[in-house]
Amino acid sequence: MSASPISPAPAPNRTTVWLDGAVMDGREARVPVFDHGLLYGDGLFEAMRINNRRVFRMERHLARLSAGAKALGIELPGGLAGMQKIVLETAREHAEPDAYVRLIVTRGDGGLGVDPRSCPHPRVICIVGAIALYPADKLKAGIDLVTVSVRRPTADSLDPRVKSLNYLSSVLSRREANLRHADEALVLNDSGLVAEASVANVFAVLGGELVTPPATQGALEGITRGALLDLARELGISAAERPLGRFDLFAADEVFLSGTAARVVPVATLDGQPIGTGSGERPVTVQLAAALARLGDTTGVPF
Ligand code: PMP
Repeated sequence: MSASPISPAPAPNRTTVWLDGAVMDGREARVPVFDHGLLYGDGLFEAMRINNRRVFRMERHLARLSAGAKALGIELPGGLAGMQKIVLETAREHAEPDAYVRLIVTRGDGGLGVDPRSCPHPRVICIVGAIALYPADKLKAGIDLVTVSVRRPTADSLDPRVKSLNYLSSVLSRREANLRHADEALVLNDSGLVAEASVANVFAVLGGELVTPPATQGALEGITRGALLDLARELGISAAERPLGRFDLFAADEVFLSGTAARVVPVATLDGQPIGTGSGERPVTVQLAAALARLGDTTGVPF
């Protein structure tokens, strides 16, 4: 097993932050201790990618944010137009052509009790900084995945389709993967089927068909996942959303993860067992990764 991937570095990377109506250097940004995002993980967020001064699939990220906000009963300040304005303004100030965006909406400041009625004003934070990636050799060779004991919460407790600030389940699954010297965690749902990775969606190539579990199996409806399903259909690769077990991943020709920052991450091993023939040939993964990179570099909302 190899070393863990690079984690996003808090410093000295330059970050630009929009907070409570002002844009500032990330090192200056401070949030009050009574923010319910801090006290209770009460809020939600989005992670977006900027390439060539364009925000990739921004409208889809904001639609997901909006759906999650409705589920939590949080009103987005200024609505979707307000969110879009904040993202583009922060991105402009940051001035890097390629960047990572973290848009956060918390319930806002309130009392020490859990009652959301004590928080009249949601808080918006937008952080723009460098994109954190796996090292290039790791991306080429593929990562090591382990099945962890932490299960995805069920939709009747904390719907995994809401990208909420409560990421303890992801944190604990990643911690377990770290302890076992793997790069990422394979997280199962309460039925023992594949939900996703700790912060990424899972795809398998089975007999030439691209398969990913439906979001109702415990996955976030990843924006990258959606783009890959669209691209596969355009490229004539048959693609389906259906439940997958570990059995299917062991039987697959190729397995990869998808997410905003790293886009497509090939998986070399699952629980120590090589995926596919072990030859390192991954034609479908390579084709989709190239198509996604092209799409990311040429489309998006400009600023
Ligand atoms: N699942 C989880 C739990 C995540 O945090 C992420 C990253 N946002 C993903 C999947 C991948 O989604 P996306 O492609 O929108 O980044």
